[in-house]
Amino acid sequence: MSRLITKQQIAEAAENAYTMARVVNGGHNAHYIPYLANVPSDLFALTITLPDGTTFSYGDDEYVFGIESVSKVATAILAMKQWSPEIVLEKIGADATGLPFSSVFSILLENDHPTTPLVNAGAIAACSMLKPFGKPDEKWQAIVGNMTALFGSEPQVLKELYRSESDTNYKNRSMAWLLKKHDRLYDDPMMSLDLYTRQCSLGVNCRQLAAMAATIANDGVNPVTGDRAFPAEISPKIVSMMASVGFYQHTGDWLFSSGLPAKTGVGGGIVGVLPGLMGIAAFSPRLDDAGNSVRAQAALKLFMQTLDLGIFNTTQVELA
Ligand code: GLU
Repeated sequence: MSRLITKQQIAEAAENAYTMARVVNGGHNAHYIPYLANVPSDLFALTITLPDGTTFSYGDDEYVFGIESVSKVATAILAMKQWSPEIVLEKIGADATGLPFSSVFSILLENDHPTTPLVNAGAIAACSMLKPFGKPDEKWQAIVGNMTALFGSEPQVLKELYRSESDTNYKNRSMAWLLKKHDRLYDDPMMSLDLYTRQCSLGVNCRQLAAMAATIANDGVNPVTGDRAFPAEISPKIVSMMASVGFYQHTGDWLFSSGLPAKTGVGGGIVGVLPGLMGIAAFSPRLDDAGNSVRAQAALKLFMQTLDLGIFNTTQVELA
């Protein structure tokens, strides 16, 4: 069974979701990173990008905010591109943790395995396995180059955020050493941690995140630039990782109620992917107790419900 949806239906559903979610006010800015605590809480944006590059965008879609853990998606793609999805599975894993993003148990519970590149421990491990080993500047160029291909434009480090995170990331430091102790770190621990912290401090806007989501939905070709960012075989692998752990300990509830594989960051951004159909991004700084934006979640759910979309639905949806 299949069903067609038009661009106009998508635009109307997105505008409706944006308007209705604007009044959703629960949650708080991330408080444990001082820079994020001070971002204006009422900012809000929603952007949808289709495989032909058509973009529908609402609200503060050019406001530059901290990418935070949405960067884990990009660097997981880069690690799979440099090595292969199978080697990333072997060296890091792709399991659901059901745990908070900064849990040390994600290392210890799985036989010393960090379990997935989409939680802090696995993301630090992903930075450590990037090539070329021992060369932080070149690794950094690879991280930023990969994100530039995904976003369609180059992200810049928010220096104040980087300083704020570096001054307070004691738990992540301890995780880097714990990974080292268990032979799950593949380069210098503090260098790998610094790459991770720096990538979390990159500034992005909602349009760039929607372009990245649409690139994943479009088998690795960025619909805005027309350039291939990564091989098509990586798309289903990264979507499976997002689906299994994208909302940390709330992932199952999220997937059950939205039907949208997605990944959050404590800067307030969320990227969602409907394979073959569209990339969706939303941004708003107030978070729930797991670190997922409350208003962005509301907007994405409303959008999905209005169009009756979801990866588990039996009716296949195509663009008219
Ligand atoms: N930089 C943040 C941290 O390591 C990212 C957490 C997140 O966005 O979920 O704590």
